[in-house]
Amino acid sequence: MSNEKLDSLRDELDQVNMEILSLINRRGELVKETAKAKVNQGPDKKYDPVREHQMLEKLKNHNEGPFQDATIIHLFKEIFKAGLELQEKDYSKEMLVSRKRKVEDTVIDINGEKIGDGNPHFVCGPCAVESYEQVAKVAEQIKKHGLNIIRGGAFKPRTSPYDFQGLGFEGLEILKRVGDEYGLAVVSEIVRPQDMEQAAEYLDMIQIGARNMQNFELLKAAGEIDKPIILKRGMSATVSDFINAAEYINSKGNGNIILCERGIRTYETSTRNTLDITAVPILKQETHLPVMVDVTHSTGRRDLLIPAAKAAIAIGADAIMAEVHPDPAVALSDQQQQMDFDQFDTFMKTLK
Ligand code: PEP
Ligand code: MN
Repeated sequence: MSNEKLDSLRDELDQVNMEILSLINRRGELVKETAKAKVNQGPDKKYDPVREHQMLEKLKNHNEGPFQDATIIHLFKEIFKAGLELQEKDYSKEMLVSRKRKVEDTVIDINGEKIGDGNPHFVCGPCAVESYEQVAKVAEQIKKHGLNIIRGGAFKPRTSPYDFQGLGFEGLEILKRVGDEYGLAVVSEIVRPQDMEQAAEYLDMIQIGARNMQNFELLKAAGEIDKPIILKRGMSATVSDFINAAEYINSKGNGNIILCERGIRTYETSTRNTLDITAVPILKQETHLPVMVDVTHSTGRRDLLIPAAKAAIAIGADAIMAEVHPDPAVALSDQQQQMDFDQFDTFMKTLK
C-alpha cells in the first residue's frame, strides 16, 4: 500500500474517531436529559433492564458487520454503563483529592525531595524527640545517607497517660535547631488545632497521626496552613474514611497532602498492625496524592522493616517512613521497632 493511501485511510479513521467521540458525548447529554425527565419516577428508575435489552436487540438486528453481534453488544454495554455512571455522578461534585478531579499526580517538593515524582523518598528519624544530642546524632546518619528530611515526635499520643508524652514545643525547637544545622526539613505530629499555626513556624511538614485521622477540627486547621501535611491512616479507618479525611484538609485550601498507610487493626497479632499493602495502589488510583508507607508502626518489628519497605516500593509507594534511634534499647517510646544506626545503614543500603 502506498504511503499516500495509508495516510488518507488514517485521516479517515481520525475523522471517524471524532464523529464517535461527538456522538458518545451527545448520547451522554441525552442520558442526562432522560434522567431529569425520570426524576419523578423515584431513585430506582435509573437502570431499566428491559429498556437496555430492547436497545441491544435493535442494535443486533441492524448490525451488518464486520463486527460480530457479541462485539457490538459488548461495546454498547460499556457505553450504556458510562451513561448510567453519568446519571449517578455529578463530576463537578467529585472530591478535590480525587483522581477524577485532577488526573496529574500531586508532587510535594520539600527540601529538594519531590515526593510523588515516581522515585522512592524516605522520611526517617526517632519516634520521639528526647534531647538535642539524640536528634543531632540521628540527623548525622540521615545526612550520611543523602536524605533531606528528619522526623521526630514532640507531642506523643500515647496509649497510657503515664508514658512519655513528648517534649511539646521544646521538642519542636530542638527539631528546628537540628534541621537548620544539618540542612534537613523537619516533620512532627501536631495534635491540637490551636497549635497548628505556631507549629508551622518550626516545621516544614506537619503530621496528623493515626489516632487523629478523624479529628475533623484538627484536619480543618491543617487545611488552613501553608505547609505540606502527612496524614496517617486511622487504625480502624477504611480507605474511604481515609480519603474523606484528606478531603477535609483540602477543602480548607491545603492540597499538599501525603497519605500514609501505617497498618490497621485486625485479629492478627504477629505484627503490631496489619500493613494494608494494597491500600497503596488503591489510594493512587482513587486520588492524585502521594502515598507513603510507615513500615515501623505497621509492622512493629525490626526484622520486617526491609521486606515491608521493599513491598511498599514495589507496589508503588512514593515514600517510606521508618524510625531510627541512637540507642533503641533506652528509647522513651517504641523501643521494639526503632532501628539502631547499623540497622539503618543496612536498611538504606538495601533499599536505595
Ligand atoms: C508516629 O509516626 O510517630 C506515630 C505515632 O504514628 P501513628 O500515628 O501512625 O501511630
Ligand atoms: Mn513511634
